[in-house]
Amino acid sequence: MQPSDMSAVDLVTAVRHGDLTALRATEAFLERIERLDSQINAFLSVDREGALRTAAAIDEKRKAGQPLGPLAGLPVAVKDALCTFDQPTTCASKMLAGFRPPYDAEVVARLRAADAVIVGKTNMDEFAMGGSNENSAFGPVHNPWDLTRAPGGSSGGSAACVAADMAPVAIGSDTGGSIRQPAGLCGITGLKPTYGRVSRRGLVAFASSLDQIGPMARSAADCALLLETIAGHDPGDATSLESPVPPYGADLDGPLEGVRIGRVPAHFGAGLCPEVAHAVEEAFAAFRAAGATIIDIDMPHADAGVATYYLVAPCEASSNLARYDGAHYGHRAEPGGHRAEPGRLHPVEPGGHRAEPGKGSGASGGGFESALVEMYCRSRAEGFGPEVKRRIMLGTYALSAGYYDAYYAKALKVRRLIRQDYLDAFEKVDLIGGPVSATAAFKLGEKSGDPLAMYLVDLYTVCTNLAGVGGISFPCGFTKGGLPIGFQLQAPALAEPLLLRATDRYQHLTDWHRRRPAIAARPR
Ligand code: GLN
Repeated sequence: MQPSDMSAVDLVTAVRHGDLTALRATEAFLERIERLDSQINAFLSVDREGALRTAAAIDEKRKAGQPLGPLAGLPVAVKDALCTFDQPTTCASKMLAGFRPPYDAEVVARLRAADAVIVGKTNMDEFAMGGSNENSAFGPVHNPWDLTRAPGGSSGGSAACVAADMAPVAIGSDTGGSIRQPAGLCGITGLKPTYGRVSRRGLVAFASSLDQIGPMARSAADCALLLETIAGHDPGDATSLESPVPPYGADLDGPLEGVRIGRVPAHFGAGLCPEVAHAVEEAFAAFRAAGATIIDIDMPHADAGVATYYLVAPCEASSNLARYDGAHYGHRAEPGGHRAEPGRLHPVEPGGHRAEPGKGSGASGGGFESALVEMYCRSRAEGFGPEVKRRIMLGTYALSAGYYDAYYAKALKVRRLIRQDYLDAFEKVDLIGGPVSATAAFKLGEKSGDPLAMYLVDLYTVCTNLAGVGGISFPCGFTKGGLPIGFQLQAPALAEPLLLRATDRYQHLTDWHRRRPAIAARPR
């Protein structure tokens, strides 16, 4: 069997037993990236040498009889929103083009400590703002199932690289659906853990009260393997939970008898594509056949989810993105009105000296202060793309004096009501099921000119983040045109074992998750 046909669980077992070398596994995926990614654009950078070096070191360790980490030899692709000290971290923004962080994100550090092999950084919507990957400053990702369609976003590169077997697993982040929606549109499995389950330290912040990192893979079992390594308390993230990490992989096997799954009739209203509705109802039937009870429930404030999210997230983003001023990291406009070369960098060296902006340039004649402000403004005008600017403006407006109470404070109140909906629902059911997206993958360019249409794509995913609970997305069928359809399960805080167990059970009974796009087929 080729390494690219193996599950992540089988791959690490084979490496541990000496049936496969880490080098051979890594080479196999690098070869696929080289062959396929020119058509898909899932990677913003590939660390070929670093990956081969790490893999060879793992093989040496094994030969020397030293203990191996739980992910030994497993190639992993990491969303470019997570800091990696040895590879660029751009967040798909010109603002951070070529930026090299001085440290690894906690999740990346844990992957390395578990002997995983980081093969590269994946494409995404700029600063994770978007649902189609078209907001990347480095070009869109193409959906492996149909290259003219979007992979979803913002973790589109992570979803597409797993779908095309360019990596067995990937790391994504989810602020309002960015793991679950691209997983659904690319036919893979993606888990957004409970807020605080996985450390956010070193994740470039979008909306700090909503952001969460999670695994993307071909199956629930592979997600469980990855989650076990990345979850757990980190004193470096004040919002990280202290709760112990259960053995997600070992907990998978279990019946669904007695598990109550909520179904929200309002999810099936106008706007839901009939093919999606049909596949989702079929999945409910499969869960029922497996012993679960399906109970209709009401989520009375879910309708306000998108409006609430598009206030809370931009408000937090406008504050988080204030740090990109041209002085600290990333893109800086040239003094005196010259445009900086795209991607020109001014990294701050520890203790290093930096010239005062505008000094001696004759800029604007208003002295140092006005030259500094001009440099800030032009750096931001040049560095950020249009959607990021739109979010910063929306957030700044909603936070400004006079509007704060009407918008931001009100959104926080509605957020509480949404959270209460979940608490009430989880009195009656153990899980909530439903669609991930109203349609299968849409065409590139179809929604990119209409921000509101793009925001509505998030209808079924944003409430999970507003409530801080966990959600998983996995394939439950295909359209007549051959595009994957996703199913979403949501669970109470820290019920990841149940999310993974229910999905794993479903994946034992069905084989939607085993289908591969034609592009992934090996050449003869
Ligand atoms: N599509 C949503 C947005 O644009 C969600 C993004 C995310 O989860 N990072 O904000």
